[in-house]
Amino acid sequence: MSGVNEIRSTFLDYFGRNGHEVVASSPLVPRNDPTLMFTNAGMVQFKNVFTGMEKRPYSRAATSQKCVRAGGKHNDLDNVGYTARHHTFFEMLGNFSFGDYFKERAIELAWTLITRDFGLPKSRLMVTVFSEDDDAHALWKKIAGLSDDKIVRIPTSDNFWRMGDTGPCGPCSEIFYDHGEGIWGGPPGSPEADGDRFIEIWNLVFMQYEEQAGGRVDLPRPSIDTGMGLERIAAVLQNKHNNYDIDLFQALIRASVEVIGVPADAVHVASHRVIADHLRASSFLVADGVLPSNEGRGNVLRRIMRRAMRHASLLGAKDPVMWKLVPALVREMGAAYPELVRAEPLITETLRLEEKSFHRTLERGLALLDAEAGKLGDGQVLSGEVAFTLYDTYGFPLDLTQDALRARNITVDEESYRQAMERQKVKARAAWAGSGDAATEAVWFPIRESAGATEFLGYETETAEGVA
Ligand code: ATP
Ligand code: MG
Ligand code: MG
Ligand code: MG
Repeated sequence: MSGVNEIRSTFLDYFGRNGHEVVASSPLVPRNDPTLMFTNAGMVQFKNVFTGMEKRPYSRAATSQKCVRAGGKHNDLDNVGYTARHHTFFEMLGNFSFGDYFKERAIELAWTLITRDFGLPKSRLMVTVFSEDDDAHALWKKIAGLSDDKIVRIPTSDNFWRMGDTGPCGPCSEIFYDHGEGIWGGPPGSPEADGDRFIEIWNLVFMQYEEQAGGRVDLPRPSIDTGMGLERIAAVLQNKHNNYDIDLFQALIRASVEVIGVPADAVHVASHRVIADHLRASSFLVADGVLPSNEGRGNVLRRIMRRAMRHASLLGAKDPVMWKLVPALVREMGAAYPELVRAEPLITETLRLEEKSFHRTLERGLALLDAEAGKLGDGQVLSGEVAFTLYDTYGFPLDLTQDALRARNITVDEESYRQAMERQKVKARAAWAGSGDAATEAVWFPIRESAGATEFLGYETETAEGVA
């Protein structure tokens, strides 16, 4: 059985041997892309190379890229703890061709790695192609010898990737692993595709067109962008049916069990998983310079941290615990990501302070939430006023409240939540105006509001999507 660290090296060595430059992961905060909240795919650092705006001394590359999919357009936060395959932070293994090899070689490289080097049985594998992509269909047949029923044509945008409204785009092909009978879920394209049985492990994007204002044209030199979730391939290779059962997560969950003192049994395992996931996301974000705040990236970090703290509290933790788990994470991932080692003191201190400040109101907020939810039945709606009080007085982000209510099948009246928020803003303004401080009114509020608005654009105008 190979551990996560070994699988990562095997992947990078394989592509290195096959003429790829092994490039380090870029930071989670994209360097020159203010429209993107967090790096969410391997291609993000190569965006300008694909469009030709930037030249590199190599035309093939391979990476293990740190990714966060929370808070932006790709938001998997609500999946964590509910599916076997989603994390907020994960590593995307990828190989890239910048106008070098194309479809045939990309399929050959992927198929050889998973069936020869990783030894996956062909009988467990199936692929999807974009419905119009006859080339890909024929190539999978030729190279992998897959039968027609194992090559599913998908007509939706799931199998057509685009960088934005204009720019490079093309069909993609996803490789799925069948975790076997007895696990709920159906093959890609079926109504039960979103279950835990057939898991997408690798996405190959064939960039062959360019969307221009006047229409779509063929790219003179098509490119390749692929992405494989390290945790998902590790689950397969370690014979586990859930990402959270791989060696790396088991080590983190063991630490969580030890520090909190509650076993990861059927009742508690989901909370331990969320804690392990959010520990990784929080720590890597802090290591890349994000600090908890009320806006933009810092706000997403704060929401992730607080969700983890709620789960620690559900497990009965009476004191801050997240900060005590940092050494376990550094032990598991510090060798591959030295920034984690360098930032360990900052991560620990940031978690500890955030936990300390939220802890004061967390218990009381949860009591209020419990009392209010107790008055409601299955399928009912919590008033926006209560959700706002939880936010304003107890520091509960809306999504935390929603997550807490999900198990009881209760939703929040978001419209009245927003109205309560609006009323609060008006009141705050009025209080300032009443103080006669005209300068504040004229200068500070516009700045404050426009600065907030600018950061907020990060959610709305996100364009680069990485692999689809
Ligand atoms: P899914 O359909 O399972 O949500 P996706 O199609 O959104 O996956 P891609 O954008 O194609 O994912 O990303 C490439 C690969 O990265 C996926 O094939 C998967 O292995 C991995 N991946 C994507 N999202 C996550 C996540 N939230 N956690 C862990 N791995 C992920
Ligand atoms: Mg997804
Ligand atoms: Mg998918
Ligand atoms: Mg995909």
